Amino acid sequence: MRARVAALLVAATAAIGVTVGGASDADASRWWSHVQFLADDALEGRDTGSPGYRRAADYVAGLWRKAGLEPAFSGQFVQTVAFKTRQIDESRSSLALVRDGRVEPLSLGEDAYFSLRVDPAAEVNAPLVFTGHGLDIPEAQINDLAGLNLKGAVAVYFSTQPSSLPGTLQAHFGSSAERWRMLRAAGAIGTIAVPGARRLEVPWSRSTSARLQPQMSLAEPALDEYPDQRIAVTMNPERADKLFEGSGHTLSELMEADQSGKPLPRFVIPARVKASIAVTRSTIQSENVAGVLRGSDPKLRGEAVVLSAHLDHVGIGEPVAGDKIYNGAMDNASGVAAILEVAARLHESGERPARSIVFVAVTGEEQGELGSRYFVAHPPAGMTIVANVNTDMFLPLFPLKTLMVLGLEESDLSTDVRAVAGTLGLTVQSDPEPQRNRFTRSDQYSFVRSGVPALAMKVGYNANSYEAMIAQEWTSERYHLPSDDLNQPVDMKAATDFVNVVHQLAVRIANRSIRPNWNDSSFFKRFR
Ligand SMILES: [Zn+2]
Repeated sequence: MRARVAALLVAATAAIGVTVGGASDADASRWWSHVQFLADDALEGRDTGSPGYRRAADYVAGLWRKAGLEPAFSGQFVQTVAFKTRQIDESRSSLALVRDGRVEPLSLGEDAYFSLRVDPAAEVNAPLVFTGHGLDIPEAQINDLAGLNLKGAVAVYFSTQPSSLPGTLQAHFGSSAERWRMLRAAGAIGTIAVPGARRLEVPWSRSTSARLQPQMSLAEPALDEYPDQRIAVTMNPERADKLFEGSGHTLSELMEADQSGKPLPRFVIPARVKASIAVTRSTIQSENVAGVLRGSDPKLRGEAVVLSAHLDHVGIGEPVAGDKIYNGAMDNASGVAAILEVAARLHESGERPARSIVFVAVTGEEQGELGSRYFVAHPPAGMTIVANVNTDMFLPLFPLKTLMVLGLEESDLSTDVRAVAGTLGLTVQSDPEPQRNRFTRSDQYSFVRSGVPALAMKVGYNANSYEAMIAQEWTSERYHLPSDDLNQPVDMKAATDFVNVVHQLAVRIANRSIRPNWNDSSFFKRFR
């Protein structure tokens, strides 16, 4: 932890009177005890497939049993998910631009890096085409690919979105998998993504350090999101000028156009990309852990309301200030602890709502929401998933007064969340920063894409407020860093209030007379 921010956070917590460390409230201390177990150094950051993750999975399975849940998968709490892993060997790899036969090597790590979310070819030599944002969205009258010949080409794009797109569409089409679907259909064989300046939530040096870690994809071929992609490169936006040399365009001109919302030109880049990509491939298994609170209504108990939270984090990585364990206390031991607590409270109260409630701690979220994707494709036998409430990094850093609801405008689950918030005296807000694409950046999106109405919630704040600043400081100083550990200020009351919201909401949804549905105005109803 850096001193300036430490001082700021401590001052902030003193000012708003939060509890630091232990809690007086029994519920809060039980929630916190789960966080303490899961984020302990002994679990080594719960990397997907690691021994530390397996210990976490055993812990969760034990608590599902203790809460009286039925095993979700033919007598087992555990669903084994098979992954392919790929790790770049940069010492045997190279990346270069070739102009008029002149080879200009790019430095891996500094100029660019290979993304191994895709399973790349060993050698690639292909023409380059700048495709603007690389989007083809007929309903928004956007087609960046029209008139371009992308057959056999590597598409270069800004991974920002046009500001004319509504927030949810930005979120949906912001994913590299969605872009690949469009670019593949146009004949491209690979991509070079240039993160726009606006997109740099995590500084280049930090995002690039993860490139040497193994990347994963689901082993089941039907669930591969990047079929036929032969190369995926992420370019350092500060070095991306090299791409546009000789094209008649400069990076700063293009970025300026993008930031001021002007249409981007699209053009053939007078260069080829030449790459050798050396990859160490392996396979690994990791577990989703799920239990079922069987519904009381024989007609409705085949319908499942799924409470999800990802159990994995990013494991052991680059040391920061001498600490190499990325504990993931808020991301997302906190969310798993929340649904563990909901299960326990339901058990203790003896409540049994009409529909079934399925509690699932999923693996592989940090690898691209893979465990939840697998779970949705392979739900518990005899169950139809009718709603999902996901909890990921809900950030109890200050009192819960406003509930931030991702997906609030999309389905009639908004009625339930507003009713619950109302009885608890909370106001409800949608994402105050839609440009961060939070709705599509966690496991709820695996449910959304398979047609299931879903929500995710966080402790809310208003843009430009004191709380917004605390949340922003948290993101820059702790998000995906070893300092997201047990030594950070947490508002225990906010955490237990949040657990209460999830509890009430799950029960309310499970008791609805009518199955949840997408709003007619929702973009996402297409997946139904
Ligand atoms: Zn994360």
